[in-house]
Amino acid sequence: MIYPRVALIGLGLIASSMAHAMRAQGLAGEIVGYAKSPETRAVALGLFCDRVTDSAAEAVKGADLVVLAVPVGAMGAIAAEIAPHLAAGATVTDVGSVKQAVVDAVAPNMPKGVHFIPGHPLAGTEYSGPRSGFATLFQNRWWLLTPSPGTDGDALARLRSLLVGMGANVEDMAVDHHDLVLAVVSHTPHLIAYTMVGVADHMRRVSSQEVIKYSASGFRDFTRIAASDPTMWRDVFLTNKDAVLDILGRFTEELFVLQRAIRMGDGDHLHAYFTRTRAIRQGIIEAGQDTAAPDFGRSAPPADKA
Ligand code: NAP
Repeated sequence: MIYPRVALIGLGLIASSMAHAMRAQGLAGEIVGYAKSPETRAVALGLFCDRVTDSAAEAVKGADLVVLAVPVGAMGAIAAEIAPHLAAGATVTDVGSVKQAVVDAVAPNMPKGVHFIPGHPLAGTEYSGPRSGFATLFQNRWWLLTPSPGTDGDALARLRSLLVGMGANVEDMAVDHHDLVLAVVSHTPHLIAYTMVGVADHMRRVSSQEVIKYSASGFRDFTRIAASDPTMWRDVFLTNKDAVLDILGRFTEELFVLQRAIRMGDGDHLHAYFTRTRAIRQGIIEAGQDTAAPDFGRSAPPADKA
């Protein structure tokens, strides 16, 4: 066992997956939970928490590890609420998809003697809520930590061993670099998927049900991404604004170049471009981050996920 008592604040996809994984591997003693709604707390108590509380402050009392697993926009208020109740020597981490905004909101609230180590698991599904978690979500997925130069080495090593115990590959990264990398690999692609589904939705009104009826794998993939939690993604774009706008600007430039190639009938340009992008996909498969299966490696979710 790595932490005798873990407090999970927010009991959705990520927190419930952590709880299942910690249980499966015997990494935590007691798992205490808090989420905004009584309904979520009741489900969590039935499925993966030993105890739930009526406030975040109550949940963190005596905890060795506190995990902030709420939308990024909610982290600051939670940090302010729990700060006076954190045990001396406790570690506080978070799982937010953006790091600079979380560091700015949480770090100033942390009392002396408490170790705040921001983190982000690069693992997820389009499902959310306390029923959506499963123990293998983090298996062979990256978990990025953004410690500061002053972070306590023992606290960092202990957190790292928990994450490795849940199956993750852990790497440290600078906060601003994290936000730029994630804007490229996750945030902007999500925005593009939301846009494409929005376009198709608009078209559906003028071309009956054809978009749904004939949706081929490319569009189906977009709809899967665009089904992700609206609150989480609203907060991602509001808090990683600069990096996303930077990447979106580059994206728009590339799109115009491709648009021009199509208009001018420049097949050589299109072929060369698609050959380069195909090589990137191959690199992702070779790095073990996806499979070469025809469905992009995304088999149907297990039956127990709502
Ligand atoms: P989720 O399934 O939607 O769950 C969010 C949880 O936070 C719910 O239990 C919700 O409680 C609770 N919550 C929201 N506002 C709260 C507040 N003010 N006080 C207390 N609890 C509050 O979300 P998730 O997917 O687990 O995401 C959690 C965090 O992980 C986010 O910061 C997200 O950026 C990050 N993340 C997500 C993914 C992903 O793919 N989903 C991947 C990596 C990281 P109620 O149920 O009562 O509303």
